[in-house]
Amino acid sequence: MKANAFAFMGGTFDPIHNGHLRTALELQHWLGVDQLCLIPSKTPVHRATPGRTSEQRLEMVKLAVADEPSLCADDREISSEQPSYSFLTLQGLRSELGDQCPIFMIMGMDSYMTLPSWYEWDKFTDYCHIVVVKRPGYDLPAEGEIKEFTDEHKAQNLEQAMALPAGKVLFHELTPLGISATQIRETIAQGLSPRYLFPDGVWQYIQDNRLYGLTN
Ligand code: ATP
Ligand code: MG
Repeated sequence: MKANAFAFMGGTFDPIHNGHLRTALELQHWLGVDQLCLIPSKTPVHRATPGRTSEQRLEMVKLAVADEPSLCADDREISSEQPSYSFLTLQGLRSELGDQCPIFMIMGMDSYMTLPSWYEWDKFTDYCHIVVVKRPGYDLPAEGEIKEFTDEHKAQNLEQAMALPAGKVLFHELTPLGISATQIRETIAQGLSPRYLFPDGVWQYIQDNRLYGLTN
């Protein structure tokens, strides 16, 4: 049975790659939702501004999911007047979807570990559940703020979270792909082919628009 819930994954997607796409597809299936939305951020708040425009990063996400009905590209952060704070996105989603709809925010372990530096992070669970996926090379710290937050909110299982609109943290193991956008940017900068790390359509777009320092 399809779950009546909203699931999304935010990120810089500079560029989107198969680590994002496999994670999104496996989570869409595990959660049992019709679609999982990828929401590229406008001005990355937690990092230096990337050299690509927001529109170009969004365009690459759109190209990557164009032939996959289970995934969608959502422009709410890029089209918004507000800065791309997850907290504001969650508030917007909650008012749009109503009080009862479970909202699942998906992130990799690397992002989850940095959560205490995000704007209003300790209120996220008032608005959504957080699903954390393993990423090669990153493990949950054995102590500290994020460990305490995890202990406080950890769900027993998916059913428990699905019965609530928000409030739980879940961990999900999936096929780990050690791909990062950093690796793709470095591969291109070295003049090597980044093929098979992301969809060919994204690579074509990068070449057509001479992104990531490509000169011909
Ligand atoms: P960069 O190397 O520039 O940081 P990235 O590959 O980490 O890029 P982001 O846009 O920073 O991509 O990540 C968006 C979200 O996707 C984050 O929650 C991140 O943890 C998750 N993510 C990225 N790559 C993977 C992967 N290979 N497996 C699982 N999750 C991933
Ligand atoms: Mg990253």
